[in-house]
Amino acid sequence: MIFCPLPGTPLITQGFGQNPELYASFGFAGHDGIDFGVPEGTVTYAPHDGKATVKDDGTNGYGLHLVIDDGKRRSLLAHLSECSVQNGQSVYQGDPIGKSGKSGNSSGPHVHWSYKILKNGVVQNQDNGYAGAVDVTEFTRLWLDKDLHHDAEYTEDAEQYLSMTFAANQYLQNPARHIG
Ligand SMILES: [Zn+2]
Repeated sequence: MIFCPLPGTPLITQGFGQNPELYASFGFAGHDGIDFGVPEGTVTYAPHDGKATVKDDGTNGYGLHLVIDDGKRRSLLAHLSECSVQNGQSVYQGDPIGKSGKSGNSSGPHVHWSYKILKNGVVQNQDNGYAGAVDVTEFTRLWLDKDLHHDAEYTEDAEQYLSMTFAANQYLQNPARHIG
């Protein structure tokens, strides 16, 4: 199961799949994740366990970003101002991993979160127009206002969600799945 990387009710400033014209140049059918508009320096948490890979694209792309991968799922948290974990470190769900910022190609402070489902380390849904990134907006909303460490009652939902297969644009066809 996964947590929202930000506690409380973070504002979603760009939803999954939005602005297809902007993302065509990156080879995506639209925005490949969820953007949370939070002030610079907001503590950001690991959505799930995994091994950390820290990358810094400088003023390009995702800027200072962290990838967390446990062979079953992979999260990318981008545009950070600080990353408090080391490359190769094991991180655990709910661990603070750094602080939000506006590094890389970013119009303002926010956290970008991409989420991919893996099977035996292999990214699934690779041909979905988002290089395998899937929309976890609905799932994330389950977690808003929830204590980051209370997960038990959501286990079934999470398993159901994680076992779903995602057809290309499946989520874009259902406006009810989008916020704003
Ligand atoms: Zn984004």
